[in-house]
Amino acid sequence: MLWLGAHMSTSGGAFRALERAAEFGMDSCQIFTKNERQWNARPLEPAAIERFREEVERTGIPRRRLVAHDSYLINLASPDEAMWEKSRLAFREELDRCDQLGVPFLVTHPGAHMKRGEEAGIARVIEGINRIHDERPDGTTLTLLETTAGQGTTLGRTFEELAAIIDGVADKGRIGVCLDTCHVFVAGYDLRTPDAYEATMAAFDRIIGLDRLQAIHLNDAKRELGSRVDRHTHIGDGEIGLAAFGFLLNDPRLDGLPGVLETEKGDDGEDDRRNLATLRALVPAAEATATATAAPTTPATGATTTGATTTGAVVAVAAA
Ligand SMILES: [Zn+2]
Ligand SMILES: [Zn+2]
Repeated sequence: MLWLGAHMSTSGGAFRALERAAEFGMDSCQIFTKNERQWNARPLEPAAIERFREEVERTGIPRRRLVAHDSYLINLASPDEAMWEKSRLAFREELDRCDQLGVPFLVTHPGAHMKRGEEAGIARVIEGINRIHDERPDGTTLTLLETTAGQGTTLGRTFEELAAIIDGVADKGRIGVCLDTCHVFVAGYDLRTPDAYEATMAAFDRIIGLDRLQAIHLNDAKRELGSRVDRHTHIGDGEIGLAAFGFLLNDPRLDGLPGVLETEKGDDGEDDRRNLATLRALVPAAEATATATAAPTTPATGATTTGATTTGAVVAVAAA
């Protein structure tokens, strides 16, 4: 099954996100490596990097399940030269920060073409990513293009648009995809019945390739199928509904991917705990245990935490 977690605040330091994720019984985690609403950020201090890496060891949440999300200001599809260059440099810096922290994935929205058309926007994104790859030959963090709701002129509403970007990227070993359940649903891909779910996943596999899928954003949608309005809501409270999340969690093709919540929450962790319990209750307990036991490449310290978290999941199922 998916390794469940949530987007966590880094207030007090990047390590704090992991600390809280472990405290709330999460098996994965997404962070911003800088303030997502500002262009500039101070470089990460060596001590902060060290502290984060120590926290990865301590919590036993393997690096493979850590995801970063880039700033909302970045637009690699921009037709404006200054904006595009600013975005490119900012994105490159975010990849650097991920490499420093040892976070293997950086999720980005492909950007908005600003009425220049999809083709022009896609070409800009490709150019930006290829330039960044050329400039960072030793970079290890993968760029994950996120499926989007397709609001305004944003790219990423169709699997074809993401496939076209990947097609133009020279070094395909450094690019992948993050599927957001809310975004694909409001973009028009249904997930609510076994047939609809299978058709959506088959389309993803045919057009992009399931081997490119590296992370899932688990959000229910406030708005209806095809509405193109991106409003996340708690699992089971929206238009997507519980059945769809059950299909995702029990889909062996998605085994081992991080699945993170991006739903509204308070500071006490209660919203995350509830959503995680809702999701875990959709997986038969025996299967959840089997998956956890068979987890590959888990360091010795991680094995203990994995076991403990699985126990937590079973308790959550029982309590739900
Ligand atoms: Zn998302
Ligand atoms: Zn969203």
